[in-house]
Amino acid sequence: MELPFAEPYKIKMVEPIRCSTREQRLHWIKEAGYNLFNLKSDQVYIDLLTDSGTGAMSDRQWSEIMLGDESYAGSSSYFKLKDAVTDIFGFEYFLPTHQGRGAENVLFSVLVKPGDLVPGNSHFDTTKGHIEFRQATAIDCTIDEAFDTTIEHPFKGNVDLDKLERILKINPKERIPFIIVTLTCNSSGGQPVSLENLRGVSALAKKYGIPLIYDSARFAENAYFIKVREKGQEQRTIREIVADMFSLADAMTMSSKKDGIVNIGGLIGMRSKELHQQASVYNIMFEGFITYGGQAGRDMGALARGLYEATEFEYLESRIRQVAHLGTKLTEYGIAVQKPYGGHAIFIDANKFLSHIPKEEFRAQTLAVELYIEGGVRGVEIGAIMADRDPVTRENRFPALELVRLAIPRRVYTFNHMDYIAASLANVFERKEGIRKGFTIEYEAPILRHFTVRLKRAE
Ligand SMILES: *Cc1c(COP(=O)(O)O)cnc(C)c1O
Repeated sequence: MELPFAEPYKIKMVEPIRCSTREQRLHWIKEAGYNLFNLKSDQVYIDLLTDSGTGAMSDRQWSEIMLGDESYAGSSSYFKLKDAVTDIFGFEYFLPTHQGRGAENVLFSVLVKPGDLVPGNSHFDTTKGHIEFRQATAIDCTIDEAFDTTIEHPFKGNVDLDKLERILKINPKERIPFIIVTLTCNSSGGQPVSLENLRGVSALAKKYGIPLIYDSARFAENAYFIKVREKGQEQRTIREIVADMFSLADAMTMSSKKDGIVNIGGLIGMRSKELHQQASVYNIMFEGFITYGGQAGRDMGALARGLYEATEFEYLESRIRQVAHLGTKLTEYGIAVQKPYGGHAIFIDANKFLSHIPKEEFRAQTLAVELYIEGGVRGVEIGAIMADRDPVTRENRFPALELVRLAIPRRVYTFNHMDYIAASLANVFERKEGIRKGFTIEYEAPILRHFTVRLKRAE
């Protein structure tokens, strides 16, 4: 008999979580204004709000917490992290930051000026925010296949090289400070970019003399997909693939709350000494001195260790198989989810699930609330509430996709939890015709309303 797959770790410490009753949850979610962000964490049984900073550190990482050197300057924990960055990514220069957006703020302060254009593959919202804050424009050059949840394309994060070259051709070089490629592409659902595509982007970047930067939050999951999906890559190790990917880039930003498997932190990697000098000025202003950048010494030690653990094939295999296990179960139950399954999350198509609810009553939010009431599972709406109002007309924007994202924290939940989540959704699916009403907005903030919105049941 072929042996089944099992996790490459055992559990040394447990953290209790509590399942509540349906009556409690009905009460709590009403009190929360039907906004899952307003729930207390102990009102949630399985928390899939995000995979950011929610992973479980290993015993080796916790040892690094004890070994942390809290010297202001020249801490040995800083040098551990610096060596890991050079070893894994090949960047000689590096700056620690407090998280990913800190890295963006520092690097973009050097590189981005008003009127600039920054092409890339569906920029992450903080990345886009830091570009637009500087009166520059992010241009999305993702392949068209990314925007259809039903197409099975192995690398839906890929950059459309024709779209990219058109931008590079018609604009003066001075207006394009860099190209940014997000690995994996979060905004398109944790979808990877192929090595071949990265080579294509790099060739164009060189041809037009423009630097290439990676937004690297889920670089290891991306490398895993290259290994298992791209022809000619299956025999290589994850670290060989990572080294190859990053040899094509001039710099990187990273939120280490994802594939760093730590709870907070970020970094910038660079090849240019001059860029490092310029960025150091902003690092000191915004983040902290260049040998800690807003992190405690112990955090940097744990991150150095986490980068090695995240680039082990066995770990990635168990992580991504767990996400796929949830996706497969939901598909078996007849629930429409984005295909292929992403690296860190499953996205449920709420337009298909609750097609009988008017879209003006927020289908994805309605589904996320029902999933919470059913099983105490917290997902997040990626739909019309998050899409906000049009800045000019102030009308609600209804995006093509209404999704509920179930983001899976790293090494936190078991396959049994995945089965529980899937069963909760199956129960909602079975009783969906009984869900007659969605929600209307009672209170909303002028921007980023999804975090604080309060809703009431539609009349
Ligand atoms: C999370 C994330 C960021 C921002 O990082 P924070 O640590 O949350 O500040 C940037 N880009 C991508 C792709 C991300 O997933």
